[in-house]
Amino acid sequence: MSAVMQADAVVIGAGVIGSSVALELARGGRSVIVVDKGPGAGMGSTSSSSSIIRYSYSTRDSILTAWEAAHMWFDWEAHLGCVDPDGMARFIQCPNLIFQTTGYDGTAILPWWDEFGIEYELLDAAALRERFPLLDTGKYHPPKRIDDPAFADDPVGELTAIYNTRCGFMDDPALSAKNLAHAARLHGADFRFRAEVVSIDRTADGSAVAGVTLASGDVIEAPVVVNVGGPHSGIINRMAGVTDDMTITHRPLRQEVFAAPVPVGMRLEDGAPFVSDLDVGQYFRPQPGGMMLIGGAEPECDELHWVDDPDTNSEFPTVEVWETYMMRFARRVPEFGVPSQPTGLAALYDASEDWVPIYDRSQLHGFFMACGSSGNQFKNAPIAGQYMRDIVEATMSGHDHDTDPVQFRGAVTGELINLGAFSRKREKSVTSGTVMG
Ligand SMILES: Cc1cc2nc3c(=O)[nH]c(=O)nc-3n(C[C@H](O)[C@H](O)[C@H](O)COP(=O)(O)OP(=O)(O)OC[C@H]3O[C@@H](n4cnc5c(N)ncnc54)[C@H](O)[C@@H]3O)c2cc1C
Repeated sequence: MSAVMQADAVVIGAGVIGSSVALELARGGRSVIVVDKGPGAGMGSTSSSSSIIRYSYSTRDSILTAWEAAHMWFDWEAHLGCVDPDGMARFIQCPNLIFQTTGYDGTAILPWWDEFGIEYELLDAAALRERFPLLDTGKYHPPKRIDDPAFADDPVGELTAIYNTRCGFMDDPALSAKNLAHAARLHGADFRFRAEVVSIDRTADGSAVAGVTLASGDVIEAPVVVNVGGPHSGIINRMAGVTDDMTITHRPLRQEVFAAPVPVGMRLEDGAPFVSDLDVGQYFRPQPGGMMLIGGAEPECDELHWVDDPDTNSEFPTVEVWETYMMRFARRVPEFGVPSQPTGLAALYDASEDWVPIYDRSQLHGFFMACGSSGNQFKNAPIAGQYMRDIVEATMSGHDHDTDPVQFRGAVTGELINLGAFSRKREKSVTSGTVMG
């Protein structure tokens, strides 16, 4: 027999962002039920995340968001306000080296870093060679396919780079979500797993959200529903009938990430940086245990694999993408020996068309969305929960966030962050057009 439950808010999705939204809504005094069709918190796209924390976005509000959020990861226990008895995710400090190349030279980034006090060094080619002797600092732009004869061409110059040491990554992205869910539970949030939302329900006159119905037939009545369905969030927005007034579209994009052993000197233990290498079209970051995670950064020469139905995505990576990433990495680290077998994963981004997330209300009163996370919002999850709390509170008190966007004051910088920058109705932001945002 199906049950009818009541809550002040339903959060759809218990990924790292959904769990953070649940924590902040519960902290704000709402009774919250989180429903997730998976088996536990952080088991969706969050579990595949490279969980990198960096500040190299292209717009003021995105840079501020990442910088403010980073401080929450730096002192994770303080942010959560508790210690999860099942273990705490840890911030691993690791510097970020950003190669300056054609179309990605830092001009969109550095003025904001200067203004917000984000420290960095500029390294010329000689400094790069001296500090990172294992890196080939040749400029190979534009990125090429490996079957392009020009792939083997000599470099056309030398790279310079931006170097920032206050970056890193979380050692376990799924555990990060579990920690947030644990903290949310302490504030009364109720998490229900293997609970799939199959309909977004409206009030009798259709003007507002009334709750959700689950595949089991159970109904949760609530005046607030937040869609944090990751790669499924487009399906959920369509279920709610709220896509008409969105100017920014978002959809699932398949991504493969590989792990490969690296030579001594390139390991985390050696102080190796994670590298944003848009010169060859990828990124790589050291992983404990002498490995390197290597992922793509959407160079123009690579076909993008958009996915209509996220439930049909194969989790197995392909030899074709593996060979491409390995060859590009070997170009940058000539001492790297390509392993004999691929080790990696294939997961989905929920990519928006400008690679900026959507944190917003919707045209249906009471229905909100935190989606379009574009492969770059793990790092922003702690603050995204606070953004959504403020947008929910303002909207439910009668404020029109569409015409007068909520402003969020960053605790670290004291700067105001315009949450209208993450509107579903924004003009497309000017960004790198890649996962770098
Ligand atoms: C390969 C990869 C690498 C990445 N690397 C980085 C990185 O280095 N740095 C960074 O900042 N970001 C990175 N990201 C992005 C980041 O991981 C995501 O933005 C973030 O994890 C998204 O969290 P989420 O909570 O929105 O979604 P998810 O973790 O996908 O959670 C959504 C949840 O919704 C549930 N759900 C879906 N539909 C329904 C339904 N109908 N009913 C109930 N539940 C439903 C799913 O089961 C799932 O658990 C990466 C992403 C990927 C895929």
